[in-house]
Amino acid sequence: MSFTRSDKDKLLAQTRRRCCICYKFCGVKIEVHHIIQEADGGENSLDNAIPVCFECHAEINHYNPRHPKGNKFTPEELKLHKKQWFEICKDTPEVLVNAPRNIDIGSLEGMILELKFNLDAVNRVAGSDWQNFYGCPLENSQYRRAVKEGSLLLLPDEIISSIHGAYTFIGRVNTLTNSFANTRPEGNAHEEATNRLLNGARGSIPYIQIALDSLNNFLKED
Ligand SMILES: [Zn+2]
Repeated sequence: MSFTRSDKDKLLAQTRRRCCICYKFCGVKIEVHHIIQEADGGENSLDNAIPVCFECHAEINHYNPRHPKGNKFTPEELKLHKKQWFEICKDTPEVLVNAPRNIDIGSLEGMILELKFNLDAVNRVAGSDWQNFYGCPLENSQYRRAVKEGSLLLLPDEIISSIHGAYTFIGRVNTLTNSFANTRPEGNAHEEATNRLLNGARGSIPYIQIALDSLNNFLKED
């Protein structure tokens, strides 16, 4: 079960599609979060719903008690954030007219797109027309950003581990691509480097897929 479409419409219009915690304009990249989780008896009602951006959603939902840094969001605090933002939207809508609307995708969402690109790239290299696709370096800038911004720390240990598995392989495929590119295009050494690259690309596919699935699953609305 989830919130009804008309409740969501109402809420997203009232909050101007901005996150109730950080006030960022989200456009379509907004989640409607259960203040009290359904598993804990929370209802699918307007009262129990709060629109938040992906990054705040990750912080609220998946505070990891095994890494107890900072302070966890409580349902009571979320209700206060929602109330404050509702008051600003209602009483002083003029502040919204000039407020920036830059949409930042956030590093966890960025990592999903990056993993999708890498998966597509290794699938092409592992395919029959690999000659058309080898040599393109795999990307890791969103992973680095997630580490730098601390969003990786928000994730449960098993998801961090699957992401590490994927990026370890991604680094390895880049190394194999470099050695392939540095061998003369003939002879045994070239053949060996080719096989290593193709096997490395094939071997990375399940690892990248697992990381992508686990991150997608983690970020889905609840
Ligand atoms: Zn936010």
